[in-house]
Amino acid sequence: MYKVVKREQIVPNIHLLVIKSEIIHKNARAGEFVVVRADEKGERIPLNLIDWDKESVSMVFMEVGTSTSKLAALKEGDEVATLAGPLGKPTDALREKRIVCVGGCYGIGALLPVVRMFKKNKNCITTIIEARSASLLYWQNKLANYSDELYEITRDGTKGFKGHVNDFLVDYIKKNNVDLVYVQGCTYLTYLTSETTRPLGVKTIVGLNPIMVDATG
Ligand SMILES: Cc1cc2nc3c(=O)[nH]c(=O)nc-3n(C[C@H](O)[C@H](O)[C@H](O)COP(=O)(O)OP(=O)(O)OC[C@H]3O[C@@H](n4cnc5c(N)ncnc54)[C@H](O)[C@@H]3O)c2cc1C
Repeated sequence: MYKVVKREQIVPNIHLLVIKSEIIHKNARAGEFVVVRADEKGERIPLNLIDWDKESVSMVFMEVGTSTSKLAALKEGDEVATLAGPLGKPTDALREKRIVCVGGCYGIGALLPVVRMFKKNKNCITTIIEARSASLLYWQNKLANYSDELYEITRDGTKGFKGHVNDFLVDYIKKNNVDLVYVQGCTYLTYLTSETTRPLGVKTIVGLNPIMVDATG
């Protein structure tokens, strides 16, 4: 069993989960994920690794169904049945490139380790976070620490640019010499961004988070 250090709602429906682990940090790299099972009878679900140190690992998740609802009910001191990782393919550490990082819903949190790693490798980072409304945007300051510039997009216009990421990106890419676009978030955001950058000929990497039966692929 693995002890819950912290579980808090960041914005409606999106939670931070910190679980005790003294091992995972040893091999963890940006872009990887862990598998979590809330209880003995639960399903194993994959969640991106957001942060890690000698004592714990952090994840950001969106409450969508049975397992994520169980995780959303956890309190400090509770335990989860499974925590396995790191798993997956780490994100390539590019150097001295101009990179646009796009995040939406839980992907705003999932961007953090990747933006941090890109910045450490002396890339120039533009971070774009998007949500339906201003109240669903989060971690602007954390991401800004590792970004050269940060833009907010809301579909209802309550903060930043009004619209969807595609409207913003086309204009941005035409005015700037972008080497790579990196996207984290739900399937629609990754699809929309890829279809926007494809005709513009800009290489695009997405955090591929399809449905995984029992987290085994
Ligand atoms: C490699 C990887 C990394 C992931 N990282 C994160 C993360 O950091 N944070 C996070 O919140 N989620 C992440 N996900 C998605 C997360 O694993 C699912 O949301 C979770 O398994 C849903 O479990 P549930 O029992 O709560 O919902 P379910 O009851 O299984 O599903 C509820 C609804 O969500 C849909 N759904 C379930 N899984 C997905 C999915 N992967 N993509 C699109 N729709 C889905 C179902 O079709 C259903 O309509 C990741 C997925 C993968 C494969």
